Amino acid sequence: MSAGGLRRVRVAIDGPAGAGKSTVARALADRLGYLLLDTGALYRTVALAALRGQIRWDDAERLAALSEDLVARGRITIEHIERTQNSGSGMRVRLDGEDVSSAIRTPDVSLGASRVSAVPAVRAALLDMQRRAGEAGGVVLEGRDIGTVVFPDAEVKFFLTASPEVRARRRYEELAARGNAPSYEETLADVERRDKADTERPVAPLKQADDAIVVDSSDRIVAELVEEMALVVERCTAG
Ligand code: C5P
Repeated sequence: MSAGGLRRVRVAIDGPAGAGKSTVARALADRLGYLLLDTGALYRTVALAALRGQIRWDDAERLAALSEDLVARGRITIEHIERTQNSGSGMRVRLDGEDVSSAIRTPDVSLGASRVSAVPAVRAALLDMQRRAGEAGGVVLEGRDIGTVVFPDAEVKFFLTASPEVRARRRYEELAARGNAPSYEETLADVERRDKADTERPVAPLKQADDAIVVDSSDRIVAELVEEMALVVERCTAG
């Protein structure tokens, strides 16, 4: 129970790449006064560690050993950034103490994250970490399999989606703003490639939970969407 008497629950936001999950999850966490857990950042950090360790994406054995070591020895750490007057809430991720929040956003690491996340032992290693980070509630968890695997009993589940073209356009603009954009066509091909890999993999494929609320962000204003989602959470926590 929080001071206001409301239950602080776990809110799962799953969906494909570029559906607007990061923006929406962050804004929703701000609106609710919840912590944000970006689970993709954990897969990205494993991929970055693999790149640095010159481990190939198809070397499942070494990827398994690496991810187990990263978790067991506390080499990946999460810091929650509280909302301030100047910035919204967020999450910082460290690898061996180094803030890698930017280093994990390159196209190489995106591709790598998609590859390492298909390795069962990598998913198993990160599962406990995600559960520990979310179990107390009062958290918005953003990922692919939060509502199906990590917290199948999450109190509120959203499945956020948008058309491939809209998602590619957003991804392209995001990369362009950082100054390392491939063409829009390449970005669209990349989005479609990642969708296919994420939905067809045998381990924890991207699929919506039966009890998830589907939200299409294609033609929506973020603030309105977030307000709608916040009301759903508040209805649940007040009840
Ligand atoms: O969401 P983001 O693009 O940062 O995720 C990077 C990759 O990590 C995705 O392509 C996806 O394959 C993987 N991932 C996952 N399960 C999660 C979160 C991310 O498999 N819960």
